[in-house]
Amino acid sequence: MRKKLVAANWKMHKITAEARSFLETLKLELGEETDVEVLLAPPFTLLPLCSQMVGESAAIKLGAQNMHPAKAGAFTGEISAQMLRDLFVRYVIVGHSERRAIFGESDQFVGEKVRAAHEASLRPILCVGETLAHREGSQHESVIDRQLTAGLEGVDAKHIPDTVVAYEPVWAIGTGHNATPAQAQEMHAHIRAVITRLYDAAHADRVRIQYGGSVKPENAEELMRQPDIDGALVGGASLEARSFAAIIAAAREARG
Ligand code: PEP
Repeated sequence: MRKKLVAANWKMHKITAEARSFLETLKLELGEETDVEVLLAPPFTLLPLCSQMVGESAAIKLGAQNMHPAKAGAFTGEISAQMLRDLFVRYVIVGHSERRAIFGESDQFVGEKVRAAHEASLRPILCVGETLAHREGSQHESVIDRQLTAGLEGVDAKHIPDTVVAYEPVWAIGTGHNATPAQAQEMHAHIRAVITRLYDAAHADRVRIQYGGSVKPENAEELMRQPDIDGALVGGASLEARSFAAIIAAAREARG
């Protein structure tokens, strides 16, 4: 059975005092429960503090929001996988739709990041998602196929169980309009079918596929009850500790 993974993507939010108070509250809310995997992806500037505050806790793990695929070099403003590992980061979000749309990241560049993350023993969370225009033009599945195929290109089968996919329809991100559980399940099943085609059913069965896009305490449980929805990648609703904790509690309920 796949363990649900609930991740907070803080994007470009929070400074030290805010992160400290968030983590103090979250740690109290969660205790040492580990039946759901919980991940915090703060901005780079807060990784050292969060790493220190999370410490050896098995209950909360650390993720980064991005990385550069090169090991080192003249890439002003960028961060490497090794630098993230140095701060005890375990996961890295790659190919978020904001990176693709605002910073022009191509499918191929995202694929390089996935490979580089695995090489450094970081688990990539590969984000895929279609725009509203794609969906209205019935291109949503072909867009996801293209992003997945390029994102997983050259990834050895042994790394597939350590790869997470996040299905994040662009039209649902930050809009308050989540995909319905049925729409999300349909796409998650499709994603698993694509991974089966690229690898095999046994590998595809081990990949966790998160849903992201306006997840909140009120809709989280029903979304995560769907058989192919293995957790959530949460933006806005992860900025407040109690709201994020309520989503984690929903993931626990959804396990049945
Ligand atoms: C995201 O950007 O990854 C996201 C899912 O944002 P929100 O939850 O705010 O829609």
